[in-house]
Amino acid sequence: MMDKQYLIVGNWKMNKTPSQSSAFVQTLIPEVETGNFVEGLSLAICPPFTALDCVAELLKDSKIALGAQNLCAAVEGAFTGEISAAMLRDLRVSYVIIGHSERRTIFQESDALIHQKVKIAQAHGLTPILCVGETLEEREAGRAQAVVQRQITLALESITDPRCVIAYEPVWAIGTGKTATVDIAQAMHAFIRGLLTEQFGKDGSDMHILYGGSMKVNNAAELLAQPDITGGLIGGASLIAEDFIGIAQCAR
Ligand code: PEP
Repeated sequence: MMDKQYLIVGNWKMNKTPSQSSAFVQTLIPEVETGNFVEGLSLAICPPFTALDCVAELLKDSKIALGAQNLCAAVEGAFTGEISAAMLRDLRVSYVIIGHSERRTIFQESDALIHQKVKIAQAHGLTPILCVGETLEEREAGRAQAVVQRQITLALESITDPRCVIAYEPVWAIGTGKTATVDIAQAMHAFIRGLLTEQFGKDGSDMHILYGGSMKVNNAAELLAQPDITGGLIGGASLIAEDFIGIAQCAR
């Protein structure tokens, strides 16, 4: 059996200017080089758009991959303020976060728009990190699985390319300091695994399913030890190099 492969991704959200990002990455790189990481662990960071260029340059010879936090659902044209998949590829971006709960709620992104973004990302060689997750109200109403199933089914409708990462991020756990219990997280990850194998067959069992929502150094090890949790999408804790590395070191 192949050893478990992990992916740990930092989502910086709207934090760090280009100069702050460069300084941060310059501290992160040597820590990663000497960080005593296991085989099969991949790391990625998702800075704001304005820092992608300078961070891409710094990451050129490192093992850390670069991700973006969003992209436009259109190829190019009159979309003032938007960033296209081709623009991201040109900056050596590999991953793109799509459908983060902050985009779904604050910017009213629909399942249909998220589906378009997944398609355009894959068509340009970017790996989507598709975020799904229920609100507290939906969980308390017993609808958590139904919500996650709807988000995944609509976002991945007619998608056949398994190069896609899913991040299960219960909305009530994001930035709140409230982490899902390992049982809640593992149960939802197993449910998602079932949906992926239904759609992608054997490839579905190798797709990454990350947990996101107040993952920290003190809870990462037990979450990452769960059979269907293959990594983490880290918000707050990814802004501190020591914490981000500490979480990554829990992946073994
Ligand atoms: C996120 O926004 O993707 C996230 C998981 O944030 P935090 O780790 O801060 O809860």
